[in-house]
Amino acid sequence: MAVATDTSRLIKPHGGQLVDRTGERPDGVDSLERLTLTSREVSDLDMLATGALSPLEGFLNREDYESVVESMRLASGLPWALPVCLAVDAAPSGDRVALADEQGRLLAVLDVDEAYEYDKEREAERCFRTTEDAHPGVARLYAQKPLYLAGQVTVFERVPSPYPELALDPADTRRIFAERGWKRVVGFQTRNPIHRAHEYLTKGALETVDGLLIHPLIGETKSDDVPAATRIECYRILLENYYPGDRVVLSAFPAAMRYAGPREAIWHAICRKNYGCSHFIVGRDHAGVGSYYGTYDAQLIFDEFEPHELDIEPMFFEHSFWCKVCGQMATPKTCPHGDEDRVALSGTKVRELLAAGELPPAEFSRPEVAKVLIEAYRQG
Ligand SMILES: [Zn+2]
Repeated sequence: MAVATDTSRLIKPHGGQLVDRTGERPDGVDSLERLTLTSREVSDLDMLATGALSPLEGFLNREDYESVVESMRLASGLPWALPVCLAVDAAPSGDRVALADEQGRLLAVLDVDEAYEYDKEREAERCFRTTEDAHPGVARLYAQKPLYLAGQVTVFERVPSPYPELALDPADTRRIFAERGWKRVVGFQTRNPIHRAHEYLTKGALETVDGLLIHPLIGETKSDDVPAATRIECYRILLENYYPGDRVVLSAFPAAMRYAGPREAIWHAICRKNYGCSHFIVGRDHAGVGSYYGTYDAQLIFDEFEPHELDIEPMFFEHSFWCKVCGQMATPKTCPHGDEDRVALSGTKVRELLAAGELPPAEFSRPEVAKVLIEAYRQG
């Protein structure tokens, strides 16, 4: 028997209500015009279904899109940092279409609001701060179909998660947080294995709140990012060995990476608010790629909103390291010593060590985590 859990102590979803766009399969779906979604659009669709993108109930219409691109707000004025759009070749003839994934699985219907043209270069410039197609998010945008199709969605078939035990919707995480009596919960976005540096940030944040949501992104990423399956194994083994289980929830974040840096930091924060997080960790160069964004841009952009507008509280962190003199993890904020006293390894150096089957220093990476990565290199 389901027991109602009081989630009223938790932060409210963005816009006030958690959206639910799941529903029954309507009659006549098979005879509708069918659109095939990219993997990124399927991720967005699934997040629309569960309310992870509350208050959105579908793909953006022109008015909202223009407002988001120009001023990081929906037409209503509510902050919203990135377009959530469905690109199509032509306006459909009917007022309802069926949405399918690339495997041909029917997932949802969309009730057509409008189809409209959009300016790819302007979207790139405003959202990615560059028009260069060397940027993976811009390249994806330039490769899109020429029109955006807006409308409310009803999802009747959820895409099976590759990690069913980690597939928690916003209503699930909210219920779990409430059951544990948490009110203040910090969310941690990651698309990398967690080494000592990020362990330090998450634990530093956890010292000040009730609980921690480790929320690795499992949607599409660049091909040179560590595969999600390997990362998940790293997270599991790290949590088992080094985190208090009753203070941490590990769950998968189904979004695809956009690599939009600062704007994506805002977007990531708003999504985690919908999952019930009151706080959100923003490190250096959050959601960045290459050298397109300044080190602190993803932190500074939060100043463009009044605190009450986002509601969720960003927690800004410096990069951290082991200091041999301090004898502990530290950051430039807390350690007065120089580079020569700090254990610092470049990403390239770490990859070299792991690929050679060698453990990085224990001050850099927990050996249990490094062993998972070494094994992945050996098999890869
Ligand atoms: Zn020090």
